[in-house]
Amino acid sequence: MKLTRRQFLKGAGAVAGTAVVGSALGVAADKVLAVKTDSTRSLPVDRVVRTTCSPNCTGSCGQLAFVRDGNIVKVQQAADYPDREYNPRGCMKGVSYHLLVHGPDRIKTPLVREGERGEGKFREATWEEVLDRIASEFKRIGDTWGWDSIHVFGQVPGSGYIQKGANYRACAALGMTHGTSFDFNGDLPMGMPITFGVQNAEHEAKDWANSRFLMLLGANPLETRIPDAHFLMDAVERGARMVVVDPTYSGTAAKADAWLQIKPGTDAALGLALCRQVIEDQKADWDFMRTYTDAPLLVRADNGKRLRAEDLAPGQARDPGPAAGVGLGGYGRKAPPVGTAPEIPGAAKPASDAPPPPVFVAWDTVRNEPVLIRTDRLGVPEGVEAALEGAFEVTLVDGSLVGVVPGFALVRGGLDAWTPDVAEQFTGIPANTIVRLAKEYSAERPAAVIMGGGANHWYHGDLTGRAFALLAALTGNIGRSGGGFSVYVGQYKVRVDTSPWWNLGDTKARVVPSVYFVRGRTETMNEKVPYPENGFKALFCTFANMFVQAMDVNRLHQTLDGCELVVVMDHQMTDTCRWADVVLPATSWYEKSDLTATPLHPFLQIQQPAIPPVGEAKSELWVWQEVVKRIDQALFEEHFNVTEQGAIEAILAKGGFTEGITMEQLQAGPVRLRVPDPDVAFVSQVEELIPFPPRSLPAALEATAAFIPTRRIE
Ligand code: SF4
Repeated sequence: MKLTRRQFLKGAGAVAGTAVVGSALGVAADKVLAVKTDSTRSLPVDRVVRTTCSPNCTGSCGQLAFVRDGNIVKVQQAADYPDREYNPRGCMKGVSYHLLVHGPDRIKTPLVREGERGEGKFREATWEEVLDRIASEFKRIGDTWGWDSIHVFGQVPGSGYIQKGANYRACAALGMTHGTSFDFNGDLPMGMPITFGVQNAEHEAKDWANSRFLMLLGANPLETRIPDAHFLMDAVERGARMVVVDPTYSGTAAKADAWLQIKPGTDAALGLALCRQVIEDQKADWDFMRTYTDAPLLVRADNGKRLRAEDLAPGQARDPGPAAGVGLGGYGRKAPPVGTAPEIPGAAKPASDAPPPPVFVAWDTVRNEPVLIRTDRLGVPEGVEAALEGAFEVTLVDGSLVGVVPGFALVRGGLDAWTPDVAEQFTGIPANTIVRLAKEYSAERPAAVIMGGGANHWYHGDLTGRAFALLAALTGNIGRSGGGFSVYVGQYKVRVDTSPWWNLGDTKARVVPSVYFVRGRTETMNEKVPYPENGFKALFCTFANMFVQAMDVNRLHQTLDGCELVVVMDHQMTDTCRWADVVLPATSWYEKSDLTATPLHPFLQIQQPAIPPVGEAKSELWVWQEVVKRIDQALFEEHFNVTEQGAIEAILAKGGFTEGITMEQLQAGPVRLRVPDPDVAFVSQVEELIPFPPRSLPAALEATAAFIPTRRIE
């Protein structure tokens, strides 16, 4: 008999339940105890600690660390998620990481360079010596060149809000710059901000199982998302089709219904051809496009900009009132009554002198006239049939006439060129296969597109993302369980409001693109993000193999030449450590406390130290406490005299996604963030007509909303 995974787990759960009940009743208790005794004899341990595996892999898997004589001797999945679908989760990398913790490359004492930089010659030093040196050098460099000349870099903070957050807090306290891992890694989907106004948004992995059709673009979850890959198979078991578009025959491609071998970097051509075909097959969801996207908003022919109400001569456009209570096609069922603007979570109260929100214009084909479209609520006013094609004329405030077209007419014109035959020339995928893929994708709802992070490393990766976001919108798959356009690119995502810990009140770290440090000053830098006046004179690098992974290692070494102090904090002797003046031994995640979350599942978890620090290793928080104390005792007392638990509790108290979550709950196991189940991107926009974007932490809503002034999918 063939068992599905679900049937197997169900059966296993039933067997386990029987054993427990049997034990409680005294039935077969000897067998249960016998198993326990054998297990204990084979692997006696002092204690078992529930903690979280926290590399930048996005798994964030709960683990049990088995400790004997101060060493971790075994790790296994905790399998304690309240949502059984996530049990167990883990992979071989995670359960074998403790071999590195106790491995030969572990750094156990502070080291001070003796030879030339890069030579790898160090002598052991005391913490007292290196902390005194770092503090005095930072003070000298800060006073001489400016504190912004001291650069701090640590890898993505989502894998440890407290320890990596200590870097941000130190920058806020001392005025140092902090480089972002967004541009350092270069894998974030830049199509997302300019389409949806968020850094990224995705469905929790469990929701893959709700899909009827899965299209994976350069994504290989069977090898890169091991704990969650089974959700794809769950969907397949339920009858979903899975198509993998990938230049290589990946592990996931081997399990798919179809593998389409695409020429690298040509995904956007495929996406545009699919969009064109969906329209030609009359499968587009025009209600969705009118309700949630900028498709109906008029664009001026003279300057290519969207027409705004203030552009028009008085009385030129009718004001039909607010958007309808229920969106077209039944969308927006949970929206507040007509005339009520939905509350926007995370939005700041506008300043009294703030300009009014923009009002755009659509063309109503019922009355053949322009109508105003507000931005405080999605949808279009009742009785309005907004044009998506055609060309019209309006009178501007200066009395001149200008031609206007719906935004979608421009998109449609662009898509015309992307016939399946043209796309075949670019992608290498046969035209008839592209046509078939479009028909199969648009025939099923919900249908999900999952794009791998690799696409974002290519030139114009933003356009690839936008092409497939358009496909998902055209078919009404945004904000729908089992659908969506998701990109899972590492533990980039900050899921809770970390401001009570990362910031000092209103004072935040000076965050600059890492390219500033790696490549130096350029003509095209954003003047709103100042480059340090005197350049970079010092580096403090934590848990990042910067001199191997940077986008331009050769140029980075020029920056390094100008640095008067280079400090690298890591638990392993990496190549980057070899270029340091001072190397600090860092604790691994089995040796320190932290708070962590992931975009793949909706559970907040803590790291709990399972073993004492190996050698003289210390946490990031401890190091910054000691450095700040030496620089400014009062600053330490005011802002750094705090424990990890205190920092976690400050974040929890902020509420929102952590509303009601306590330290005690986290110590007992993972706790679901206050998000819908399943956690589906943009569901509030689609169901409640709340304008885009949702808050994309840690940025302020107003900052990311600036990407999409229409507050719609653009
Ligand atoms: S998937 Fe990632 S977080 Fe999970 S066990 Fe493996 S390495 Fe650790």
